[in-house]
Amino acid sequence: MAVPDLRMAASILRKEGFNLVASPSLRSLIKRTTGPINYADMLMHEGWDDADALEGAVSGWQGLIRLSKARAMVFNHAPAALMAARLEKIPVLLMGTGFELPPLRTPLPTFRPWQALPIEHFLNVENQLLSQINKVLTQQGSQALHHVADLFASAPTQLTTLPELDPFGPRADASYIGPVYTIPDTPAVSWRISGQKHAPRFRVLIYLRPNIPQCELVLEALQARADIEVIGAIPGLPPEWRTRFSALRLLDHAVDLQTLLPRTDLVITYGPGTLVTALLAGVPVLMLPHMLEQYLTGLKLEQTGAGAMYTQAGAAITVDSVIRKMLEETSYLQAARKFADRYHDVRPEAATQRQFEVLNQLMQRGTSDALRDPPEHDLARSVPAGGQLAAAPSIQIEVTTICNFDCFYCVGRTMPQKHMRRAVFESILEKLPGNSGMTVSLQGEGEPMLHPEFWEWVEAVRARGLKVTTISNGSLINAARCAQHLDSIGISIDTLDAKQAHDVGRYNLPRVLRNLQSLSDAMGSHRLRVHSVDFGQDLQPLHGFLQKMGLRDHIIQPLQGKEDYARHYPDADVLHAASAQSRKVIAYTCSFLETPKMRYFNIEGVELPCVFIKDLAGYQSINKLKESLAHKQVPNCCAGCRHLQ
Ligand code: SF4
Ligand code: SF4
Repeated sequence: MAVPDLRMAASILRKEGFNLVASPSLRSLIKRTTGPINYADMLMHEGWDDADALEGAVSGWQGLIRLSKARAMVFNHAPAALMAARLEKIPVLLMGTGFELPPLRTPLPTFRPWQALPIEHFLNVENQLLSQINKVLTQQGSQALHHVADLFASAPTQLTTLPELDPFGPRADASYIGPVYTIPDTPAVSWRISGQKHAPRFRVLIYLRPNIPQCELVLEALQARADIEVIGAIPGLPPEWRTRFSALRLLDHAVDLQTLLPRTDLVITYGPGTLVTALLAGVPVLMLPHMLEQYLTGLKLEQTGAGAMYTQAGAAITVDSVIRKMLEETSYLQAARKFADRYHDVRPEAATQRQFEVLNQLMQRGTSDALRDPPEHDLARSVPAGGQLAAAPSIQIEVTTICNFDCFYCVGRTMPQKHMRRAVFESILEKLPGNSGMTVSLQGEGEPMLHPEFWEWVEAVRARGLKVTTISNGSLINAARCAQHLDSIGISIDTLDAKQAHDVGRYNLPRVLRNLQSLSDAMGSHRLRVHSVDFGQDLQPLHGFLQKMGLRDHIIQPLQGKEDYARHYPDADVLHAASAQSRKVIAYTCSFLETPKMRYFNIEGVELPCVFIKDLAGYQSINKLKESLAHKQVPNCCAGCRHLQ
């Protein structure tokens, strides 16, 4: 067994008869000041930016494979070993809690879901990493990879967590087997018998390491609480802590969780393994993350409602108040019990059995098809259908063409009036890369909130770890609901003049303006946009009004000159300058086709490169549009488009 930390491995596995060796490792010579943005960037931080060091680590692994005569390998996080296995044609089983096995797509998903970063950052770092990987692979006669994700694509993967706790989950196509970890020969420790005179009210189990920054703060807080019984498993416990925290039962070794958890009120830990085990026993968890992996898992934990994170040592919120809240508020316990009920049949033994089965199959198959260079169709399987969907930063889904307004310029008013079917929506959703930082807008040529399943679909998008937004005409707004469920919202308003609005087909302007104010109060201006169509009206009064409200995100769109739009407003003056007749196409390019800015799924689920193609007669595919332009022919469905250069 090759391990990065021989001391820790020996303490756990010394009795199991494993031959331990130090794993070949990489270390970056460059000190970076910023954290990685995704898995590819993390490898670059870890020394993959140095081609010689990478080659050394890979050849170290190749040496181990040859010396050990391994017939198969099981990895947690060892991408250099994965390269070595590819070169040596050894089958591999990948297992991990998700962070070290990101979803296979290009670019790989962000480590900072709270931050909007340009997609170019991800593509750049991935290209740099890919070139380092390919240098090493091709030097030894192996085929170059097309994407970093190809490295993982041909090895079976088992996620030793559950979908809700996967930092990049839930993933539609993943094999979640639950935790496999049980530490052998851990001594059983018991809580005091309850009902004893002066028995404490709560029992808190700690599973920490002394080097975790918040560890001492937690011990100090618990030491001051006479109503809590504490058992602390702290491998590496400094001897003086026994005296310093004499009111707590601190042990310098792991303990048997299964005997303790049934009567535990709260687990305080840092790692995903103990976290899953505690939740499966229905016990809430307070997480003290000190690494990015733990922080991302902690975010997922908070979404389940069964736990919280404490990261702010010395900040206004004290750890004592967090512990108090978690012990006294029943919502954490209820959510943890629900979690446990959902997965009542998950057992580490069954998960381990599944691992052995896959491993056996791999060994029987031998090198015949394991870890060969992936053919092109492997990539197609790993990247969602639609090819460049993963690279498109935003998606729009036309959930309905029905509307309670009747704007004169609206293409939707002459389209077949219907709602998108659930099966169509689900098939689109399946294609979207979860946890990718992508924004999905449920909007189209109708009022989205008229769709009877609108809010259910909003939740379905969020459950995939994607951001969700919409554009509404503002007439059917429940501000609190929007604030709770949407990341942002756009409201379409063209004018402050109620008569002009009515003439346009936008009814009940006073109600729309009241709703706008409610949204601003409930969501704040940073989550609210206003969209206006410029049909020649004076937009200044509206713009000034929005500025006064603090709404700075005001998007003004001109009328579209394309034939399938223009027939709706033949008299509009502002159209003529940009009309189909007056436009000259010079370069035969369109920025929506050059780089995938977005993807639009119409009411039937047809994938389009932009929102402007309404007449689908003759439309075949995005690639066909590109081919036509490459041959200096304007496809009918693009004729007159202002984006055509
Ligand atoms: S509110 Fe929107 S969808 Fe409804 S008619 Fe007007 S432009 Fe069309
Ligand atoms: S030219 Fe216009 S209609 Fe055609 S793909 Fe580009 S944006 Fe869409």
